[in-house]
Amino acid sequence: MTPKIDFIDLKAQRRRIGQAMDDAILAAVHEGNYILGPQVKEFEGKLAAFCGATHAIGCANGTDAIALPLMALKLRPGDAVICPSFTFAATAEVVAWLGATPIFVDIDEATYNMDVKGLAQAMVTAAQSSLKVRAVIAVDLFGQPADYDPIEAFCKENNLVLIADSAQGFGGRYKGRVAGSIGDFATTSFFPAKPLGCYGDGGAILTANEEHHAIIRSLHVHGKGTDKYDNVRIGVNSRLDTVQAAVLLQKIAVFADEIDKRQVVAQRYNDALSDVAVIPEVMDGCVSTWAQYVVRVDADKRAGVIEGLKARGVPTAIYYPKPLHQQTAYKRFPIAGNGLPVSDRVCHEVLALPMHPYLDGATQDYIIEAVRDVLKVAAAAA
Ligand SMILES: *Cc1c(COP(=O)(O)O)cnc(C)c1O
Repeated sequence: MTPKIDFIDLKAQRRRIGQAMDDAILAAVHEGNYILGPQVKEFEGKLAAFCGATHAIGCANGTDAIALPLMALKLRPGDAVICPSFTFAATAEVVAWLGATPIFVDIDEATYNMDVKGLAQAMVTAAQSSLKVRAVIAVDLFGQPADYDPIEAFCKENNLVLIADSAQGFGGRYKGRVAGSIGDFATTSFFPAKPLGCYGDGGAILTANEEHHAIIRSLHVHGKGTDKYDNVRIGVNSRLDTVQAAVLLQKIAVFADEIDKRQVVAQRYNDALSDVAVIPEVMDGCVSTWAQYVVRVDADKRAGVIEGLKARGVPTAIYYPKPLHQQTAYKRFPIAGNGLPVSDRVCHEVLALPMHPYLDGATQDYIIEAVRDVLKVAAAAA
């Protein structure tokens, strides 16, 4: 009989904090402050403290979290924002919302994060298209912080705003700093499957910039001024729900421990799979939150490996099967340099394995054995 294995097991966390969670949710329901209740402010404080950021602003989801700083910057047609192509669509989508142009750069093959060399190429691309580059959106893909030191230096040199899309990497470490406190703005998502997820949609923006903090607080509630019925700018409705903030207050209490637990799971995979697949690489001085544990296998064997694992009850996923610059809605946007060869290649090789803090040793051993097995079968068939 094949076992029942979850790709991300959210029920396991409930076995740990479920009772406190249910009490907190019910208390929020009974209190009745459903919109911007006290839990939201309390959670914003805890979120900022967790990473050492100055301000945190809750919002409706991780996509809005990237859009709101761009709105505060008054991004407009003719402006460009540099971002990786090998990411979730939201990273570039918000740039296009505002009529501006995303310019896609390639990734580093070892870390899957933005290749810093692409930044200078993107500036050339922008100049050729008469676009004004305003910002860079770096992504902490799969949980590993982007290589922020050189990205920050580049942004400073070229007077660009740095937005860290830490939807996957919030709480990870980069050379003594914690993701969430890095960049002019850091953003995160509380989508349930993210390392710090809630029970629905949610997101947050973190910043130390006082002026932009005030503007985003206004923008996310319809552009309100000090008088609620005198809106001073065109805004949106993008709030973190009180009930979700109550959920997140319970989750953030165990989040540091969960990040530690994820290191143990990742290390076990690394030790057991390094001789049969390309295992993920974490840069020196960095800690990944392991939003995904992604290996690479030969492109022509991947479909068979997925089938073989499925037959053994092991769920897998592909992040991402198509980089953005190949997708229908994004094909028309410029790319840096002569192409994005790493993104074009690794999208055919990546394979994400079950990963969550509560993956027990016996289940993980079963997964490891299954992976080794199917890779052996695939190699013999080749
Ligand atoms: C999940 C995710 C987002 C968007 O978050 P939502 O809460 O789903 O809107 C943005 N960027 C990256 C890299 C993500 O993984």
